[in-house]
Amino acid sequence: MAAVLVAASMVAAAPAAADAFTQCVQSKWPAARSAGVTRATFDRVTAGLRPDPKTVELSGRQAEFVKPIWEYLATAVSDKRVTGGRAALDEHRATLANIAERWKVDPEVVVAIWGMETSYGTYMGDHNAVRAAATLACNGRRRGTFWTQQFAAAIKIAQDGHVPLERMNSSWGAAMGHTQFIPTSWQAYAADYDGDGKRDIWRSIPDAFASTANYLAKHGWRYQETWGYEVVVPRGFDHGLADGQRKRTLAEWSQLGLRRAGGGSWPRPNDPAYLLYPAGANGPAFLMLRNFDVIKRYNNADAYALAVGHLADRIVGGGAFEQAWPQNERPLTRAQVREVQSLLTRRGYSTGGVDGQVGPMTRAAIRAYQKASGKVPDGYPSTQLLSDLQRR
Ligand code: CA
Repeated sequence: MAAVLVAASMVAAAPAAADAFTQCVQSKWPAARSAGVTRATFDRVTAGLRPDPKTVELSGRQAEFVKPIWEYLATAVSDKRVTGGRAALDEHRATLANIAERWKVDPEVVVAIWGMETSYGTYMGDHNAVRAAATLACNGRRRGTFWTQQFAAAIKIAQDGHVPLERMNSSWGAAMGHTQFIPTSWQAYAADYDGDGKRDIWRSIPDAFASTANYLAKHGWRYQETWGYEVVVPRGFDHGLADGQRKRTLAEWSQLGLRRAGGGSWPRPNDPAYLLYPAGANGPAFLMLRNFDVIKRYNNADAYALAVGHLADRIVGGGAFEQAWPQNERPLTRAQVREVQSLLTRRGYSTGGVDGQVGPMTRAAIRAYQKASGKVPDGYPSTQLLSDLQRR
């Protein structure tokens, strides 16, 4: 109690001194100047700027429980979202056709990303990009330089009049407008479709569409080639081939016995693809094409890219996935993934660290362990895998 009182009296004794947040924000002036911000703008924008409490709270949180991919997909590609996507495609048909012509990106994919990011403009976030970025730059636990750049870029966007500062809506993580671009992505990829000189992804849906199309095009989108195919693997298939990395042509996969779920042939048999089991060998299998990785440049998660691709397909009349998800499985918690990683490491299968994240090294280590112990080598961190490792 005494210590608290002493601390409180020290604060009271120095009322004129700027607090740590204000000092930190002011220390970002050189970065803002490098980004082209004037001193007058910087002073105006930072006057009285306070941290965003929700951003502080959410940036410090890491979910311990991971949502199963089938639950994620059920929300992300709900009937409501499919219906909304069809309505959006219809309403903006002419604009989307022009954008497709100019950027060579498929309209339903642009609409699907809009649906995934903000539910077609319904939830653009009620935070302010400058404030959120300042908070992350000064209160974040990591990536200080990255967020300083976002902060400086956000101020520059407002200074240039693309959107008034107070209308610069973002998520708590400074992802802005209909398309949820972080400020530096806005600088690199946002586009002015309607030609008013502003790249206004907050208030112009055509600008937002063009920005998303431009982003995908610049990352190598292949027009009118899909993202991938749900496939059925034959009995006795070597599940070790589903490493989510090694590419073979669709014709080669076909020779290994893979068929399109629901039948049909491959339109371009020479396209390279890799085999992915998002929920292990007991769930659906997919051959992923180049565009799947382009979608991942928007958000680097298989579940996200699969949701975008599937939503796009559903919007233009495609059906649900044919194969069932392993609904009785529960994904491992982060603590359990850490346990898997340390047990594998102890047995000589390097997971590249014990961080609770299932990356390519962890998957490869799981596969090697599964192979050596006569299990199905699908590289999937199941509860069964954990109990096997605990027993041995
Ligand atoms: Ca515009």
